[in-house]
Amino acid sequence: MAKVYFASARARKWKYGDSMPGKLEQLLKEIGLMNYFSPDEWVAIKTHFGSEGAHRIIRPVFLRKVTDALRRIGAKPFVTDTVRIMGLDYLEVANQHGINHLSVNAPVILADGLYGTDNIMIKAGEIIGEIAVASVIHDVPAMVVCSHVKGHINSGYAGAIKNLAMGCVSGYHRTCGWRCGRGTMHTFGEGELIWDPEKCELCYQCSDICPLDALVFQNEELAWDGDTCWRCGRCERVCQSESISLPGDEERFMHSLAEAARAVMGTFGDKKIIFINVLTEIQPECDCMPTADVPIIQDLGILISEDIVAIEKASIDMLRSSSPLPGSYAQDKKVREGEDILMTLHKKPYMMQVEEAERLGLGSSAYELVES
Ligand code: SF4
Ligand code: SF4
Repeated sequence: MAKVYFASARARKWKYGDSMPGKLEQLLKEIGLMNYFSPDEWVAIKTHFGSEGAHRIIRPVFLRKVTDALRRIGAKPFVTDTVRIMGLDYLEVANQHGINHLSVNAPVILADGLYGTDNIMIKAGEIIGEIAVASVIHDVPAMVVCSHVKGHINSGYAGAIKNLAMGCVSGYHRTCGWRCGRGTMHTFGEGELIWDPEKCELCYQCSDICPLDALVFQNEELAWDGDTCWRCGRCERVCQSESISLPGDEERFMHSLAEAARAVMGTFGDKKIIFINVLTEIQPECDCMPTADVPIIQDLGILISEDIVAIEKASIDMLRSSSPLPGSYAQDKKVREGEDILMTLHKKPYMMQVEEAERLGLGSSAYELVES
C-alpha cells in the first residue's frame, strides 16, 4: 500500500516546526529524498507559474524548501513550467508572483523554450496518439511535481495528473501543430471552434485571454484563426454564457489526461519522480485564468508521495470530506454540507482521471495516510 505523508495546515503552536514551511521540511525528510535523487543529479521542480491576476499558486517559499532540501543531498534543482503565454511574458508572470532565482535559490526556466516549441514526440496511447513532451522534462532524469490542488471547469479536479498531462506537454509542435500538443486532450477531429452569436454577450473576455490573438471581433462578429489556435480552451473557459466551445468529450478528456501523464512519467526511470500536492487556497478554477476567486474549501495542508494515484486519491478524499466555505462560489451555488463540492460546482466525472491512471498502472488508489 502506498504511503502518503500529510501535514495539516493548522498551526497549534507558535514555533517554526508547526508552520507550513516547517512542516514541508519535515515531510521532505520523512519521504527521504536520497531514496530518489543522487548527488549532482539535475532535478526539475515542476510547478505552475500562474497567470497575470491569478495569484493563488504555490508560494515561492514552498518551492524554496524543496530546492533547499534537494541541495542538502547534493542534487541540483531548477524550477520549471511549460509555456502558456509567450515565454518572455510568462517568465515575467512568474517573477511578479515571486518565483525567480533569488527567491527559490535555483534557476527558473521554461521547459519547452521561449516559444513553447522545444519538445520531443512521445507515443502516448490509443486516445491521443503521439504528444509533444517539453524537451527539458523529457531529458531531465528526475522530477519533483509540485501541484496546487484546486477545481477546474474542464477537469473538475486539478492536481498532479493534470500537472503532468497538461503541464508537461507543449501547446504546439513544429510540424504536428496543436494535434500533438495539449489541444489534443481538449478536443478532437479538426477542433473547429463553435460560436453562438445568439448567446454571445460581446463581453470580449474570450479574445482578451487568447494567448495567440487567434480570436478577433469585427463588427460584433467573431473571426477565429484555426491555423494559429492551439486549442488550449482558455476562451471556452472564460465564456460565462457558454457561447463558445471546442468539440469535446468528457470521458475522452479524463482518459487522455491519464494517458498523457503516463507518457510523461515514461520518460523517467523507476523512483525518479515524487509528488507534492498543496491543498491551500483551494479555489474553484485553474491558476491559468486571468483572476483567482476566493477559496471554496479551507486550507487543508500538504501531501507528499511517490505514488501519483495514491496522492490524488488522498487529496480528493480530503476535499470530499471538507465543508464549503461561506462567501465563496460554493455558497453562490448553494453547495450543502456533505456534498462533493467540486462535483456540484463543475459537474465533471473527475474521478475518471484517477481511475484511468490506476488502470494504466501509474499507481495504486489504496494508500496509507501518514500524518506528520
Ligand atoms: S482555444 Fe481559444 S484561447 Fe486558446 S488559442 Fe484557440 S482561440 Fe485562443
Ligand atoms: S466570452 Fe463568450 S460572451 Fe463574451 S464575447 Fe466571447 S463568446 Fe461572447
